[in-house]
Amino acid sequence: MPQTREQKLQKKKEYYNSNKKEILEAMKQYRQENREKRAEYNKQYYQENKEKIAEKKIEYYKQYYQTDQCRKVRRIGQWKHSGLIDSDNDNYESIYDYYINTTQCENCDVELTQDRYNTSTTRCLDHSHITGLFRNILCQGCNCRRGEDNF
Ligand SMILES: [Zn+2]
Repeated sequence: MPQTREQKLQKKKEYYNSNKKEILEAMKQYRQENREKRAEYNKQYYQENKEKIAEKKIEYYKQYYQTDQCRKVRRIGQWKHSGLIDSDNDNYESIYDYYINTTQCENCDVELTQDRYNTSTTRCLDHSHITGLFRNILCQGCNCRRGEDNF
């Protein structure tokens, strides 16, 4: 009586389960013995497709650079670099949310703008240069004036 497909699969499974250790060992050995061959193959593939791979990489980063997530990471990085301290431990993200959702300067009420190059109304995060703690979301103009007060 010929075996059905299920029976064959079942047999294979049983064989695998009762010889698992040997099979895995053999696979490992195969990989080890062919390591150089595989490395050589990968190298060759890379050489032949270098430009294509580089292009893909650039494309990927270009796209990532424009995502909100990337903007957030870069912005928080700038804040950290400028000395902003997170009082609640990893609360930078909620500061960022607050920052991005504040539409008017908390000092002079001017409508805030998001600019590539700073203008007097560019949205700024104001923090104390003494304690490093977050204070307000201000326009660039107010932020500069307050910076001189240094409290
Ligand atoms: Zn202002």
